[in-house]
Amino acid sequence: MPSSRPVRKKYNIPLFIPHEGCGHDCVFCNQRKITGFQTSVTPERAREEISKILATIKNPDCDIEIAFFGGSFTGLDLGLQRRFFETAASFRDERIRGIRLSTRPDYINKKVLDQCEEFGVRTIELGVQSASDRVLELNRRGHTFERVKEASAMIKERGIDLGLQMMVGMYGSDRETDIYSCEKIIEQKPSCARIYPTLVLSGTQLESLCKNGEYAPLTLEEAIETSAEILSRFRENGISVIRVGLYPGEDLRSEGNIVAGPFHSAFGELVENRIYRNKIEAEIIKNGIRDQEYEICAPPSETSKIIGQRGCNREYFKEKYGVRLCLKPI
Ligand code: SF4
Repeated sequence: MPSSRPVRKKYNIPLFIPHEGCGHDCVFCNQRKITGFQTSVTPERAREEISKILATIKNPDCDIEIAFFGGSFTGLDLGLQRRFFETAASFRDERIRGIRLSTRPDYINKKVLDQCEEFGVRTIELGVQSASDRVLELNRRGHTFERVKEASAMIKERGIDLGLQMMVGMYGSDRETDIYSCEKIIEQKPSCARIYPTLVLSGTQLESLCKNGEYAPLTLEEAIETSAEILSRFRENGISVIRVGLYPGEDLRSEGNIVAGPFHSAFGELVENRIYRNKIEAEIIKNGIRDQEYEICAPPSETSKIIGQRGCNREYFKEKYGVRLCLKPI
């Protein structure tokens, strides 16, 4: 019997904690530019930010999570983590359901998880990036995939939801390796995942590698195709993908920041379009459909994904097969 209870809308209050938590220097990372914060965040500043954002959420019947993103939160001094947690816990708003945070796999240990449990952390997202130890080493991640497996198991043992983040097109990777990473991530049974295409940001080691000709970023087309395959595999395995593509905030897009790579402000949408394009194309080829109308019955919520951004899928089938997509709402 379907439940008649309305689904509560979910909100995040994102607090970006820049590089202080991180002693690493991954070749692709320009932490401050990704987070959009140029200054250090203190618990006091976090309090102001939470109050400000909370006041803008008028919905009385929703679930809100306070999210510590952007750096390697659990790499911070335990006492400072506690102060951030206490700040979050001091908000008595009934709509706040818990805390989520992102961190590195090698910054997960018993003490960290004890404290997370104490403050009701609901989700921990790990930056995995790749399951290939060779790629992890080339990108100076400072940990192996074995560490990801250990940290994932420890998080799940505590009953905390696990999120895993991966990148496509990293230095030293290729499509096959990216798909391998996806499969290894699926094996860890996370409840959610994020997919990020590798961008070359100004001032990073990846920029130098790119200039020296040692690294060639993916084209937008390659990044879309690989991400579409990975997104489909995650979904087939019941993993909710909560983001595809970096958040195109002002700071990321500031002039000169993205030096090269498959950036598109609607990257996730293009990936969704591609999944439909691939499915429809397989049907068209299988059934030998050419130069005719092709009717697709779909719910209204899916029609724009099927037609594609600015009609790109519609154009594609018309040009390549002479097929005109005809959508019937169901
Ligand atoms: S661990 Fe994260 S924050 Fe630290 S350098 Fe690497 S990507 Fe950047």
